[in-house]
Amino acid sequence: MLWFKRRTPIGDAAWNRAVRAHPVLSGLTAEEQVRLREIAGEFAHSMQFRWAGGLEPRDEVTASVSLLACLPILEIGLKWYRRWRTVLIVPRHYETSSVEIDEAGVVHESVAEAAGEFAELGTVVLSLRDIRSSGTGSGYNVIVHEAAHVLDAADGALNGVPPLQKGMDATRWTEVFSSAYQDLQQKIAGPTRASARERRRSVFDPQAAEAPEEFFAVASELFFERPRHLRAEYPEVYHELAAFYRQDRLPAQRS
Ligand SMILES: [Zn+2]
Repeated sequence: MLWFKRRTPIGDAAWNRAVRAHPVLSGLTAEEQVRLREIAGEFAHSMQFRWAGGLEPRDEVTASVSLLACLPILEIGLKWYRRWRTVLIVPRHYETSSVEIDEAGVVHESVAEAAGEFAELGTVVLSLRDIRSSGTGSGYNVIVHEAAHVLDAADGALNGVPPLQKGMDATRWTEVFSSAYQDLQQKIAGPTRASARERRRSVFDPQAAEAPEEFFAVASELFFERPRHLRAEYPEVYHELAAFYRQDRLPAQRS
């Protein structure tokens, strides 16, 4: 029997293996670690994991996805994922009319038409290769990226503005994110294509300049993977994300 069929926290062996594979998990306090392992166990139990392309179910992968998916909602609760029902894991490439893999290797379920379709189907597609590259502190984290899209779409609109926490100012959020998004577009996707040197000044993947929802998703990856770099580049975005996720990643992070 697979461990996630039972409603139990992630065990010590699975946790230690996950931390080795995804060092971003090592920055948690002991108390955060206990809660993350509990909530990730609940996630694994309630989520339908499906395996395609000849993959066999593997606890190790389920644990990685569950822990990294629950990192963003550690302080705001699993209820944020109530419309997310299924995780579909594919080996590398996956193409149908509704699923695409972009240049960065990120699998998108037709995000352009997404909100409705996503909310209806509640499926997130992840490739095994990208899961393994996530959570290393490089800034890349496909699970946090797709989880951010789920949070964004929690109000039915995939637009880079999730339902905000109590006390947060929607006008301020919009101003901060619009301004940073436009700035990033100038840096990496502007009309006079930035030089390679200028591009290197940004820690953001160019995908973030494609749409406001991509900016929010990539900024969320950086918030958990390279918080100091995010804060250095866009301090106000960092502070809005800290308020939204109710986490401040800096004290525990070494990046
Ligand atoms: Zn995306």
